[in-house]
Amino acid sequence: MTDPHRDTGSDPRRQVPRTDAVLADPRLRAATATLGRSTVKAAVVAAQERARRGEIPPASVADVAVAALPERAASLRPVINATGVVIHTNLGRAPLSAAAVEAVVAATGYTDVELDLATGRRARRGRDALAALAHAVPAAEAVHVVNNGAAALSLAATALAAGREIVVSRGEMVEIGDGFRLPDLLGCTGARLREVGTTNRTALADYATAIGPETAFLLKVHPSNFVVRGFTSSVPVRELATLPVPVVVDIGSGLLAPDPLLPDEPDAASALEAGAALVTASGDKLLGGPQAGLLLGAGELVERLRRHPLARALRVDKLTLAAFEATLRGPAHPVRQALSADPAGLKSRARALAATLPGVDADVVRTMSVVGGGGAPEVELPSWALALPAGYATPLRLGDPSVVGRVDHDRLLLDLRCVPDGLDKSLREAILAVRDA
Ligand SMILES: *Cc1c(COP(=O)(O)O)cnc(C)c1O
Repeated sequence: MTDPHRDTGSDPRRQVPRTDAVLADPRLRAATATLGRSTVKAAVVAAQERARRGEIPPASVADVAVAALPERAASLRPVINATGVVIHTNLGRAPLSAAAVEAVVAATGYTDVELDLATGRRARRGRDALAALAHAVPAAEAVHVVNNGAAALSLAATALAAGREIVVSRGEMVEIGDGFRLPDLLGCTGARLREVGTTNRTALADYATAIGPETAFLLKVHPSNFVVRGFTSSVPVRELATLPVPVVVDIGSGLLAPDPLLPDEPDAASALEAGAALVTASGDKLLGGPQAGLLLGAGELVERLRRHPLARALRVDKLTLAAFEATLRGPAHPVRQALSADPAGLKSRARALAATLPGVDADVVRTMSVVGGGGAPEVELPSWALALPAGYATPLRLGDPSVVGRVDHDRLLLDLRCVPDGLDKSLREAILAVRDA
């Protein structure tokens, strides 16, 4: 019997090897174990089609399929962040520390997230992560963690103010990004917003006169991604806390204590000491951890949030809890390292790179890094970059790892502030690969 797929005639399209035969290639069998059969099969089918169209020799189907395999089963690609933006929302905000990565890996399988191994009984979910947060902010009577900052605020509004009023300054009606606006988010919770003051100026009396039997709490939102300058005034938490209703403070970026590097950035401990009843914040901005939403404050309020039905819908994953605890307990995380990187060290790294890129028009230039959408819009951090021809931008971005910089005056600037020094070698290899292409 003749097998139509095995026809050894002269037409190359008829000599394309069968899928099963190609899948038996040891390299593709190994890849099936890590990437899954459907991914590997798709690469084989695509290579067979190319062979049928005469684009590649039939004998090379397995090689072509191997070359086309993705490096990993998920398609999110690692990026070397050479933008100089420390907390870059489009690049996933805070990169995790090695300690956090290790904790995540350990928690991937079955884990004691809700079990006390000593007694064999059910335990409070994420108790150690919560204990680490409580330990980091002694001013908080109680703490809770949800999926992100927006979830923390939604839970507070729903549990404490549904059907009632939240008093908020017109100067703090913030759009977070990507079209999401806090007033809209709060509106979805069933709470009514009672706006007071003006865009540029709000006084204590504005809040005081708005307070009535319907008031659930006063909300203070940190305008974390913009500044208003000129004829402005706003009311500090300490003064708001003299009014007879609870004050909820959305500090945004998640600093737990004052940071001398970012003197204008609010922090949880100071807000609580100033009299806030509840503080909400993000976990993946200046805190440097996984995406999470923090709730810290009065024991009775936090308990009401924790018990609210919505809390279950906003519950954090075990992987988040693992990364979060390790971020709090572990050594300085990458966000902190990037913020505190010494410009002289960045300059010498840039020089060492420039000196080892033969045939590449590379120089070393002074630049400014920024904290990013995650906070401190005013702060500029002096930095150093490798400057390459702008034509390098696209191929570097498309590489694996991808390298993302910024183009300025026809030069691609690769700011080293957010590139861990352990990645200089990968950066060099990526640039040389583009040079050779
Ligand atoms: C970032 C931010 C949020 C939203 O936090 P996510 O973690 O992104 O959900 C809310 N409020 C302020 C002030 C912020 O800066």
